[in-house]
Amino acid sequence: MELLSPAGNLTALRAAVDNGADTVYIGFRDATNARHFPGLNFTPQQAAKGVEYAHARGARVAVAINSYVQAGGWAQWREAVDGAARIGADAVILADLGLLDYAAQHHPELARHLSVQASATTPEALNFYQRRYGVTRAVLPRVLSIQQVAALAEETDVELEVFGFGSLCVMAEGRCLLSSYATGESPNTVGACSPAWAVQWQETERGREVHLGGILIDRFAPEEPAGYPTICKGRYEVEGRIEHAFESPTSLETAELLPQLQRAGVQAIKIEGRQRSPAYVGTVTRIWRQLLDDLTAAGDEAGAHRPDPARIAELREFCEGSTTTLGPYERKWQ
Ligand code: SF4
Repeated sequence: MELLSPAGNLTALRAAVDNGADTVYIGFRDATNARHFPGLNFTPQQAAKGVEYAHARGARVAVAINSYVQAGGWAQWREAVDGAARIGADAVILADLGLLDYAAQHHPELARHLSVQASATTPEALNFYQRRYGVTRAVLPRVLSIQQVAALAEETDVELEVFGFGSLCVMAEGRCLLSSYATGESPNTVGACSPAWAVQWQETERGREVHLGGILIDRFAPEEPAGYPTICKGRYEVEGRIEHAFESPTSLETAELLPQLQRAGVQAIKIEGRQRSPAYVGTVTRIWRQLLDDLTAAGDEAGAHRPDPARIAELREFCEGSTTTLGPYERKWQ
């Protein structure tokens, strides 16, 4: 399986390549990129340098132009696709139908990957994108069980890419209304579910409270660790109980599922986190490179390989709140 690592700047891209990423995915520094974080991402010149660095070392670069084209914004999004082709990127990651069509018509040599933002979860949808726009790979939303992934692989020739590590998002990606409800901004265009301006921390007698857009989304005891707040991972009172009602603030960590993902027909494992530091990207990429190489060396046809516990322990030090989940891959209700 191929390993895809995130990069929010050139240093992170180099760290990913140097530590064994097969492909690094990046985005331009504008709204064409659904991870449009302030201070991160690539100018066309930086992206060109990144492609040069990766290609010189046998790695590939995919450019995520994965937000939906805004009214009046066609020229900007089209230019992003043209720009990715100009710098010699290996693939573009797209969700918008108009952009997929444009890329297929004008840059047929540039591989087209379907973004997770398109939320395609059926063979019919995947095969349509392949037939109509020549999509060769799709990133699956983080809502499918491993059985559902395997069933999809049986009914499509589109390569399947899944998230293997990092933060979880439980909604139809790119269409979440939770954060829009709280902030009035779309995570599709501002690049974050909790834009910094909307987050407010307050020390109170009841604990440290965090608000998003004025809405209380969590309260922490004095010594309790508190990560960056996301509305879907807040604690709410539901029928008298206070709990993580939507999703818990833990990291997706699927190392132990690797043999099963391979047997299910998954072609690529994606590491989440273009907002993460170069040190994080480098270390997490190195560990995942080792896990995948171990799996290949084991020649495991039966799916019986067990990843090295020492590698998993090292990986878990990089998880949110040091807690992990297999997420939807193993949810019973699926
Ligand atoms: S608020 Fe949560 S569910 Fe909504 S887009 Fe962000 S991470 Fe996903």
